[in-house]
Amino acid sequence: MVIETRSPEETFTLGETLGLGAKPGTVYTLVGDLGTGKTVFTQGLAKGLGITEPISSPTFTIVQVYEEGRMPFYHFDVYRISDVEEMDEIGFEDYVYGEGVSLIEWANLIEEIIPERHIAITIEKDLEQGFDYRKITVDDFSKIDTGED
Ligand code: ADP
Ligand code: MG
Repeated sequence: MVIETRSPEETFTLGETLGLGAKPGTVYTLVGDLGTGKTVFTQGLAKGLGITEPISSPTFTIVQVYEEGRMPFYHFDVYRISDVEEMDEIGFEDYVYGEGVSLIEWANLIEEIIPERHIAITIEKDLEQGFDYRKITVDDFSKIDTGED
């Protein structure tokens, strides 16, 4: 699915819509260059989960946990990860295979440990379409049969 947005508000609303429909255990991956709108999207998603506190980028902590919404929200930013083993140390699997909703910014950097079942979101600019244009691709791999259950 491809969604085109032309303002931060539209990207926020897309995030909110997905957040409203999110189920426990859903894992979102979020990939896009700096300044494309990953944080805007994440703020919308958090609102859709019922979180009212501001969402910042968990740059220094890798993961930020929000408990106030309909279910826990685990917001990862793995931009500064130098080795996937760092993710083991913070208990990555407990989060992503747990009952909360996970969102992983820069998930491409830890591709090998992303659960097969996830919803992949990519945000891209296209300056020919204008400065505020974003092409947002949502690929749902959350219902694939992994042969596990
Ligand atoms: P990232 O987290 O990917 O680095 P941010 O969400 O922090 O990016 O910033 C995105 C910037 O782009 C904001 O300043 C926002 O106002 C601006 N912007 C302009 N158009 C859009 C759009 N269609 N969707 C999202 N953000 C947009
Ligand atoms: Mg950001």
